[in-house]
Amino acid sequence: MTVSSSSQNQDDISKNYKSSYFGLPALDVSVAFPQATPASVFPPNASDYYQFDDLLNLEEQTLRRKVREVMEKDVAPIMTEYWEKAEFPFHVIPKLGALGVAGGTIKGYGCPGLSIAGSAVALSEIARVDGSCSTFILVHSSLAMLTIALCGSEEQKQKFLPSLAQLQTVACWGLTEPDIGSDASSLKTTASKVSGGWMLNGRKRWIGNSTFADVLVIFARNTTTNQINGFIVKKDAPGLRVTKIENKIGLRIVQNGDILLQNVFVPDEERLPGVNSFQDTSKVLAVSRVMVSWQPIGISMGAYDICHRYLKERKQFGVPLAAFQLTQEKLVRMLGNIQAMFMVGWRLCKLYEKGKMTPGHASLAKAWITLRARETVSIGRELLGGNGILADFLVAKAFCDLEPIYTYEGTYEINSLVTGREITGIASFKPAALTKRSRL
Ligand SMILES: Cc1cc2nc3c(=O)[nH]c(=O)nc-3n(C[C@H](O)[C@H](O)[C@H](O)COP(=O)(O)OP(=O)(O)OC[C@H]3O[C@@H](n4cnc5c(N)ncnc54)[C@H](O)[C@@H]3O)c2cc1C
Repeated sequence: MTVSSSSQNQDDISKNYKSSYFGLPALDVSVAFPQATPASVFPPNASDYYQFDDLLNLEEQTLRRKVREVMEKDVAPIMTEYWEKAEFPFHVIPKLGALGVAGGTIKGYGCPGLSIAGSAVALSEIARVDGSCSTFILVHSSLAMLTIALCGSEEQKQKFLPSLAQLQTVACWGLTEPDIGSDASSLKTTASKVSGGWMLNGRKRWIGNSTFADVLVIFARNTTTNQINGFIVKKDAPGLRVTKIENKIGLRIVQNGDILLQNVFVPDEERLPGVNSFQDTSKVLAVSRVMVSWQPIGISMGAYDICHRYLKERKQFGVPLAAFQLTQEKLVRMLGNIQAMFMVGWRLCKLYEKGKMTPGHASLAKAWITLRARETVSIGRELLGGNGILADFLVAKAFCDLEPIYTYEGTYEINSLVTGREITGIASFKPAALTKRSRL
């Protein structure tokens, strides 16, 4: 291909502008803005105002401290860079594996068998420093591993769970499709019975970890029964193609993929025997929504902790920002939200432990907590002024990371409708005018 000299000049000019400004490299944020500490040096926790640590048993407290330490030491210094590049820090996986949180509440098969509260608080500590890392763990552990644990055969559990628990292998969970998001039970990917196994055809979209996952849990419609079934697909299966979704504004470290399944053969022994309808998928979602609810709690705690430090460091009109009445009110509003979110999340865990949690309970917590967290990080964003739009000071990143969490695992609206159905007895997912009769 011939390139004209004028376009070559344009390329040279744009390269120069990209690499430097007046020939100088960009200043590190701590040099350019010396008055406040960036999030690479994470602040101490200041958001546990009502001393929730007292509600945790010794084991849960120890895990919380261990996770906090690793996240602050190993992840905080690198997260802005990886978030900006939209790349996954693979070298962090062994450190997350050593925390012993993957597999959460699953007992046996090398899994940690944590209490749900311990598992949830650990996830919130991951999210406090980085929302993407918490999503990586959530998808791997609370969706993919949990599906295998709840719906897999004994052989499947023995075969897959031990290495997933150590994070020696990584899993993803594929339900959503390009045409099917909130209306997940209408999914179109097909599974046709063939000799010795199943042939999968279709597409999946948004699947977290899928660009590098070793194990892909895929939901597809059985062409004989017309019901949803679950399958374990291996990374190198012929006919499987995964491409990364680019240009996200949130959870940029998470590698979300578009999956194409073209005559992907899955042997009989890798069909999940416990997934025989969408109800089985919903059972997994109800449990994982407990965990999802704790991500916004953690993200809000991190945003508050940064704001708390920043307001004391940054001075305007000769005094720290923390001295202004208006900024104090905002900080207190953030803190109040966090205390309330924590109590709702905590109560949800206790209902789950007592076997009393309903899908409506889990959906209300997910919907309400994400709503409050959205308000919390948005207050934090304005408190930091211009630095509130820089990933280096965490809050802008937290603000963006919360948006996909507000949407995934059931949007705010869908979760509200799940609770709405439970408290009224009336399902209103489909507009009544378009259905023959309103479904009860
Ligand atoms: C970063 C990210 C990671 C994800 N990871 C995964 C993953 O690992 N695995 C996976 O399977 N999926 C994943 N998802 C998909 C996610 O679960 C879906 O995006 C979500 O269910 C919403 O579907 P949708 O985006 O198609 O929105 P739509 O369903 O098209 O909804 C668009 C809007 O319409 C509203 N709406 C839809 N139906 C109704 C209704 N009945 N009443 C009122 N309002 C309604 C919604 O609330 C929303 O506001 C991920 C998504 C994101 C963004």
